[in-house]
Amino acid sequence: MKTVEEALTAILETVTPCAQERVPLLEALGCVLSEEICTDTDLPPFTNSAVDGFAVCAGDTHGANRDSPVLLTVIGEVVAGQMSSQTVLPQTAMRVMTGAPFPTGADAMVMVEDTHMRDANTVEVSLPAQAGQHIRRQGEELKKGSAVLARGTSIRSSEIGILATVGCAEVPVYSAPRVAIFSTGDELVSLEQGATLLPGQIRDSNRYALASLVRETGAIVHSMTHILDDSEATENAFRACVESGAQVIVTAGGVSVGDRDFVKPVLEKLGQLEFWRIAMKPGKPLAFGHIGETLFFGLPGNPVSALVTFELFVRPTLRKMAGHTVLERVRIPVILEEPVPHIPGRREYVRAHVRWESGQAFARITGNQGSSRLSSMVGANALLIVPEESAGLECGRSAEALLL
Ligand code: AMP
Ligand code: MG
Repeated sequence: MKTVEEALTAILETVTPCAQERVPLLEALGCVLSEEICTDTDLPPFTNSAVDGFAVCAGDTHGANRDSPVLLTVIGEVVAGQMSSQTVLPQTAMRVMTGAPFPTGADAMVMVEDTHMRDANTVEVSLPAQAGQHIRRQGEELKKGSAVLARGTSIRSSEIGILATVGCAEVPVYSAPRVAIFSTGDELVSLEQGATLLPGQIRDSNRYALASLVRETGAIVHSMTHILDDSEATENAFRACVESGAQVIVTAGGVSVGDRDFVKPVLEKLGQLEFWRIAMKPGKPLAFGHIGETLFFGLPGNPVSALVTFELFVRPTLRKMAGHTVLERVRIPVILEEPVPHIPGRREYVRAHVRWESGQAFARITGNQGSSRLSSMVGANALLIVPEESAGLECGRSAEALLL
């Protein structure tokens, strides 16, 4: 059996980023830049005012205070989006709005709060100005042609804003991987099949939960298929899905050693099985391999096991394929508010709720941890990591939590 780290390392070694493509700006959200982006203008593109106020010659304002303000003649106004043709000469001032071009002749902005209009053409300035104050100089943030975002940058809303600023309407990104999802089991009834369950049947939850995880990871759901516990049906389904261009296959269930578990033998027939057991709980049976170029994850069928193993192995894989360099979730130390039982042997991932109080994170587990109890994932925002050799973690001690 491989440890979690050994398994993840082995999986990620086989993974390379997807091809590159250009997508419209908003569709790049959540993607990773496949090329460096340079700015097509100076930033800011012109010198402008950082405040609403008056452009002045700073020298005119020396010694100004509330009791003896300096009087300047207002020669005009410039608003955002316009240019002024007038020059600010000594003893004059021009009204300038935030973001409006800073007029020639002046060398400082005085904030409107430090002024008072004595009459329509005269402004009182009650605070001396320093040359250069409240002015945003052309190119002070970035010079035209310089790099603004590096290749490999994850695109969040701030990066979308920068891409818009530099006029990048079509963004070069790594393509999102296409993932085919399969649920397996004669007992499963899909939502499309109707409302009633016959004796012995249960609803198929994994197909929908896994598809939502694929989407949440920024990947594409290539297909969602239910297969019966039948060798030929399983083989046909995997073949068709590889032929139609799925880059990753994720199955749930049928991966153990039962008589009706066909995932592993079919994978071995069509491709390669690299390994199929990991020393962890939940989720010991996990088959990893490939069929041709298509990566294959045979996750366990119990709903919690399927979701936890997706988190730990499939999500980092999909992120690497999408060009991300940070693949794993953040881990933080938490104080346990109740004991966490554990039998030494396998690494355990315990569903927990972490809250922050007085500069410290505290964790409680979310009830019964049976791997069929999907309700233990509801309300969980973290997985507590219980080390292999632990005989249980006491209340009040520190533990490692992986934030979901
Ligand atoms: P298996 O690994 O196929 O033996 O499945 C383990 C357990 O998970 C069984 O109790 C299955 O009924 C259940 N299970 C498997 N697939 C699903 C699914 N798609 N939705 C809900 N439960 C499932
Ligand atoms: Mg089954």
